[in-house]
Amino acid sequence: MKTLLVTGGAGFIGANFVLQAVADGLRVVNLDKLTYAGNPDTLAPLADEPRHVFVQGDIGDRALVARLLAEHRPQAIVNFAAESHVDRSIDGPAAFVETNVVGTLALLECARDYWRGLDGPARGAFRFLHVSTDEVYGSLGAEGRFSETTPYAPNSPYSASKAASDHLVRAFHHTYGLPTLTTNCSNNYGPYQFPEKLIPLTIQKALAGEPLPVYGDGRNVRDWLYVGDHCAAIRRVLEAGRVGETYNVGGNAERENIAVVKTICALLDERRPRSDGRPHDSLITFVKDRPGHDRRYAIDSGKLQRELGWRPTQTFESGLARTVDWYLAHQHWVNRVLDGSYRLERLGT
Ligand code: NAD
Repeated sequence: MKTLLVTGGAGFIGANFVLQAVADGLRVVNLDKLTYAGNPDTLAPLADEPRHVFVQGDIGDRALVARLLAEHRPQAIVNFAAESHVDRSIDGPAAFVETNVVGTLALLECARDYWRGLDGPARGAFRFLHVSTDEVYGSLGAEGRFSETTPYAPNSPYSASKAASDHLVRAFHHTYGLPTLTTNCSNNYGPYQFPEKLIPLTIQKALAGEPLPVYGDGRNVRDWLYVGDHCAAIRRVLEAGRVGETYNVGGNAERENIAVVKTICALLDERRPRSDGRPHDSLITFVKDRPGHDRRYAIDSGKLQRELGWRPTQTFESGLARTVDWYLAHQHWVNRVLDGSYRLERLGT
């Protein structure tokens, strides 16, 4: 049975990936520090699942990572662990460098040493897959899309730290021959996303009848991908990606932020009309723009589509409708995040 060491598997994308991988018969050792973004509730369906081993710990803890590798002998490492929220990186960049750069370096060193100790076929089959973002490429004007050869120009402390980690992954392949793969993906949305990010934040505030904050003029453009499609892309790259390569992942679904918020409002108008009869979009409030806010991201995922046959299964409209329905059906999950009880759970109190 194939075993993966997944890091950050209690976070939004990592947990979606772990739930799917375990359902598909893989064995997953899930290493997560459980920062504010790690949510054990998301993994509750795996509580009695012998193919899922959860370990609370830091990717920067070399002794722990080396022990897990020696004990579980994974065929691949998939690195989701990161500080991921741009606004938090503006307020406090140090944690981003600590996990995204220093932590990834420690993980790479452990992976290299473990991989060197593997014999013939196991050594040939081993992969280190690093999950990264399109934000490393910086901001686009009205035209063009990011490709794998677009020069890096990260603008936020978050994207700068992810760019540094991508470079370390590249260097470990080039210098030591570590069989690495890197994916750079556009903005994800879907079940289990922490309600500080645009889509779940908007859903929750709209349901509470609170103002819906939109940065600046609302015209910043993001390219959205449903999280399940991102996870499928990672699985495909893991199976068939060419070692040392990077693959861009995107949904070909560019939307202005204001359009995203209005679409959510329209979905909620149908599903949960407000008691005063007013449309949800009357709650939209423009707020002071994020400093250094990138104007537009757009991804060309042609390489992944041509070489590995991956395609997104959701359009933005179908994925967003699913997401709104998921949040409506999982208010208990959201409320435990909002009242902080998801954190007490892990401390056993
Ligand atoms: P997230 O913030 O929801 O989850 C991150 C997880 O990593 C959390 O469970 C957290 O506890 C864990 N973690 C943090 N520091 C750790 C450490 N030092 N050691 C072990 N675990 C640690 O993030 P996400 O949105 O799921 O993103 C996952 C990855 O995908 C990140 O690397 C991010 O850069 C990348 N990515 C995210 C998006 C997106 O739209 N969310 C898009 C492209 C790429």
